[in-house]
Amino acid sequence: MTASELDRWLGSTLTERMPVLFLGHGSPMNAIEDNLFTRGIHSKGAELPKPRAILCISAHWETYGTQFTAMVQPRTIHDFGGFPEPLYQVQYPAPGMPALASAGAELTLGALDHEHWGLDHGAWSVLLHLVPNADVPVVQMSLDRGKTPTEHVALAKSLTALRRRGVLIVGSGNMVHNLRRVAWDRLNQVGFAYDWATEAHAVLMERVRGQRLDELAQYARLGSAVQFAIPTPEHYLPMLYALSLREPDEALEVFNDYALAGSLTMTSLALGA
Ligand code: ZN
Repeated sequence: MTASELDRWLGSTLTERMPVLFLGHGSPMNAIEDNLFTRGIHSKGAELPKPRAILCISAHWETYGTQFTAMVQPRTIHDFGGFPEPLYQVQYPAPGMPALASAGAELTLGALDHEHWGLDHGAWSVLLHLVPNADVPVVQMSLDRGKTPTEHVALAKSLTALRRRGVLIVGSGNMVHNLRRVAWDRLNQVGFAYDWATEAHAVLMERVRGQRLDELAQYARLGSAVQFAIPTPEHYLPMLYALSLREPDEALEVFNDYALAGSLTMTSLALGA
């Protein structure tokens, strides 16, 4: 895709380089709670320049091929079961931005989704703390199940130009995320981590801070603790997307860096913010 094609969708005016975020989302209940994590996201949102739009890569939308939500008004999807009724009442009425979806699809050779998806809880449970007014358009980008982590890194890099078109790219997942091993009786115990979760967090953070992206992409080689931490890739990949967009001069800020319930971390990252 050439610059002029990008101009066609998003105009030719360049902006300051927008930050990139990775947000640990944890339980959907964070959407309606006021806690350490939601306050961390809220204060990060208050510090950011107001974006023209948000491109959100959520752990909860996996497809074959890459897709972008192209609706004028994406619906709020309650993609979970067994939670209290108030969580099902939550709406996040941010508009979509079909032009950004089209630009994303061209940059990644992806496809437009006009009717199937919307905003899932991976997106809205964090965005309603980051942008409480829901007054910034949001496009979701899916995770292609057919790609290797290294291919996801390359795909993420193809989104770089969006940062200078006023687009805030937000990955939403969890660095350490093993629901089968969650200590359900200690669900709200901040700081409680199993030994393997502590070890995996340390192994991964050393590589995050050291900008060792290749090793993060090949996490299957990082030992058994990391295997426990990432039993399936979907909550980890959004972090890889954010880190793939890091430019050499860019500062990394780590926040909400706590373990929870034994087998989760809420670690969140901000680049250039
Ligand atoms: Zn999740």
